[in-house]
Amino acid sequence: MVKPLEYSDDIMVKKILKDNKEVFLCEECGLGYKDQGTAEKCEYHCKNYKSCSLEITSNAILK
Ligand SMILES: [Zn+2]
Repeated sequence: MVKPLEYSDDIMVKKILKDNKEVFLCEECGLGYKDQGTAEKCEYHCKNYKSCSLEITSNAILK
């Protein structure tokens, strides 16, 4: 199985195109962010705390 190098093993942020803009999705809660770093933070938080951080999800641009 080939893994993209830029992603760590347990963070699997998904990049999609929405209206020709890149959106990064948290695979855990499905929220989308305009930058990969925030999406990774969200996914990390979702996986480790089994809930979303309001501070992070307030930056979501796609639900
Ligand atoms: Zn999340």
